[in-house]
Amino acid sequence: MYDVIIKNARIPQGDDTVLTNILVKDEKIAGFVDRIDGIEAKEIIDAGGHLTLPGCIDSHTHFMYQGFPHRENFLTGSAAAARGGVTTVIDMPCCSVPSVRSVDQLKLKLELVQPQALVDFAFWGGVTGEDVRNDWLHNVKEQADYGVVAFKAYMTPSVPTYPRVTDPEMYEAFVAVAETGLPIGIHAENFAMCDYFVKKFQRLGRMDGPAWAEARMELAEKVAIELGISFSEATGARLHIVHMSTGIGAKLVGEAKKRGLNVTSETCPHYLTLNYQEAMTKYGPLAKIAPPLRTKKDNEELWEGLNNGSVDFIATDHAPYEIESEKLKKGMNIWTAFPGIPGVETMVPIIVSEGYNKGRISLSKLVDILSTNAAKHYGLYPKKGAMFIGSDADFTIIDLDKRWTIDPKTQASMCGYTPLEGMELKGKVVKTIVRGHLVFEDVDDSTLKELSDEELRKIVHEYPEGVEERYAEIFKEYPNLYSKEYEKSYRINHPEVIDKHIRSITGIKVKPGFGKFVKRQSIQQLPKTITY
Ligand SMILES: [Zn+2]
Repeated sequence: MYDVIIKNARIPQGDDTVLTNILVKDEKIAGFVDRIDGIEAKEIIDAGGHLTLPGCIDSHTHFMYQGFPHRENFLTGSAAAARGGVTTVIDMPCCSVPSVRSVDQLKLKLELVQPQALVDFAFWGGVTGEDVRNDWLHNVKEQADYGVVAFKAYMTPSVPTYPRVTDPEMYEAFVAVAETGLPIGIHAENFAMCDYFVKKFQRLGRMDGPAWAEARMELAEKVAIELGISFSEATGARLHIVHMSTGIGAKLVGEAKKRGLNVTSETCPHYLTLNYQEAMTKYGPLAKIAPPLRTKKDNEELWEGLNNGSVDFIATDHAPYEIESEKLKKGMNIWTAFPGIPGVETMVPIIVSEGYNKGRISLSKLVDILSTNAAKHYGLYPKKGAMFIGSDADFTIIDLDKRWTIDPKTQASMCGYTPLEGMELKGKVVKTIVRGHLVFEDVDDSTLKELSDEELRKIVHEYPEGVEERYAEIFKEYPNLYSKEYEKSYRINHPEVIDKHIRSITGIKVKPGFGKFVKRQSIQQLPKTITY
């Protein structure tokens, strides 16, 4: 007796597919069979003959919870993931209060986000300039032992709770992280270059959208990546370039790989499909991100990077803000608006539509860059990112022919905007399965509709028992942040708006709290598959 049969699943075999039926027992893959006659199972899920990928992974999300519930919370963020065919997210340590840079903070984050999670999740660990200056680098090993998958450092200022590293501090961080064997992901933009040119452009009176991208120029990313590669070579640290936006970046990473260095990179769907001239003219602050959108030439060079192996996988840098208080607030401009856009809900369909369906990438590449490579890189493989017997029964089922248009109004993310708005795609996620459970189906109905005010109060607006007091103490350390962020937000003062949004999300089939925390399973490195 099996728990579930996923019938009519068209699974990838290299660049080909095979139609099969997948048996699931105890939330894991138990076998593949041609015929299901005579096989008993408690539940049958029909994959409809559609392409069935190993569950896709977004290894770079900022769900902002805890501390900024007006932007996103783990419920809305993970609902967006489920709707986008993402079965595991790996959440960043920076955009929360407190930021996550110690085991205590990891435990607090887990307590706070667990009741909200709809898909599985792992955590990045944190290391900042403040940790280096205060001799807190023992936290690095402790977080690694706790099960984080990697460490994040910023070369430019990001959020007030997560101080950037200066160059020598970054070196110290590399040394500490190298000892753990885990990757260190850097936000690669040169601080002095960005700071100087942003101020210069402001002085010149540039207030147009594209000014943001021109001030934070390609060269700032290039020199930052070059420094990172030098530090990786000197320390042996596994350097990972997060959200790489430029073609020149892909070239540098490719060259470093050919030299045998431990350097990897990811890019995001928006760096593959949007350019700053068009998107920042049209959307202004709603297309503002860091690093900024680049050019059409960069789009093409990054696709090429995915194909030649210099870009290892796709992630989204999902980082939504509140339009009314942080993007288009009266008096706000392209320089003062917050940098960040959503992405987790549109990652898989964009790569399927613009990559696979348009013939830019092969099927095996699609599987690698949406699932397998991130799982290997972050030590979650083969529990995640694989279709082996014994792997978690996570699947992303895609109707390759379905045409649809991206519309922020129908998305689960709380932010309600995306510079990808209006993009016409061919290929849509129709079912998302996590550990053998149907988590999302492309229908109007949703378990979230049925959540009572009382349930939502407990899950979203209140902290679990025992956490509230501890949390209030931590929050006192950030008085400025508290007043600045909170008092401006409509949603903070009107939690019923958040509830209404949650109940409007369609297609979710499980209850909040279903998603499980996944610790790093192993320390594994991607094979170097660079094309010479
Ligand atoms: Zn990020």
